[in-house]
Amino acid sequence: MSEAVLETRGLARSFTQGDVTIEVLRGVDLTVHAGEIVALLGPSGSGKSTLLQAVGLLEGGFSGSIRLGGQEVASLSNDGRTALRREKLGFVYQFHHLLPDFNAIENVALPQLIHGATPEEARERAASLLSSLGLAQRLDHKPSRLSGGEQQRVAVARALANRPALVLADEPTGNLDERTADVVFDEFMHLVRGQGSAALIATHNERLAARMDRVVRLHDGGLVPVT
Ligand code: ADP
Ligand code: MG
Repeated sequence: MSEAVLETRGLARSFTQGDVTIEVLRGVDLTVHAGEIVALLGPSGSGKSTLLQAVGLLEGGFSGSIRLGGQEVASLSNDGRTALRREKLGFVYQFHHLLPDFNAIENVALPQLIHGATPEEARERAASLLSSLGLAQRLDHKPSRLSGGEQQRVAVARALANRPALVLADEPTGNLDERTADVVFDEFMHLVRGQGSAALIATHNERLAARMDRVVRLHDGGLVPVT
C-alpha cells in the first residue's frame, strides 16, 4: 500500500450554541493514500463540510489527531499550519470563490506565485491547465464573464496549480446542472489522476461517488466504509 497522505484518528468536533451542543463528528478515522480518490458521502447536515474544514486546517476547535504527509497537525503553530496547507493541499468549493477582479489566468497563477514560482512559470502552467479544461479562449476573462461551469473549471485549475498531494473538494459540482456537473467532474478526475494527486471529495451524489476509487459514508458522526 502506498504511503498515507492523510490520516485522522478520533477526529471530533462539536458546536455549542447557548446550552445546546451538537456533536457533529464523534471520532472519525480516515486514511487517504497517495494518489487515491475517495468519495465522502453523506446527507446534508451529516458533517462533510465540517470534516473537510478540519482536514483543510481551516478551522480549529476539533479534538483527535490529523496527520498530513506524516506531520501531526496539532503540534504545529499557526504559521506552520498555513505553510503545511500551502505545501500539501488544494481546495475546490461548491461556489468557486475566485477573485472577482482577476482574470482566469491570474486566479490560477496566484497560488503558484505565493508558492515561489516565477511569473512566467505560473502563467505557463495556468494557461496549460485552463486549456486542458477547455478554457483556452477564456484566459483573459474575469469570473463574472464566465458561465458557472467555466468558473468551476477555473477553480479546479487553481486547486491543482501547485500539484498538491491532496485535493479537498466540497461538493465541487453541486452548483451545476447535471450535464455540466458530469463533464466538469470527469475533467477534474482526469487531471487529478494525471498528476497523481490524492483527493477527498464530498458529495451527496451517489452516481459521482461510484466513479471514485473508494467511498466512505458519514453516519452518526463517524465513517462507515461502503466499498
Ligand atoms: P454537510 O456539509 O454534510 O451538509 P456540515 O458540516 O455543514 O454538514 O454541518 C454539520 C452540522 O454541523 C449541521 O447540523 C450544522 O448545522 C452544524 N454546523 C456546521 N458549522 C457550524 C457552526 N459554525 N456553528 C454551529 N453549527 C454548525
Ligand atoms: Mg457541506
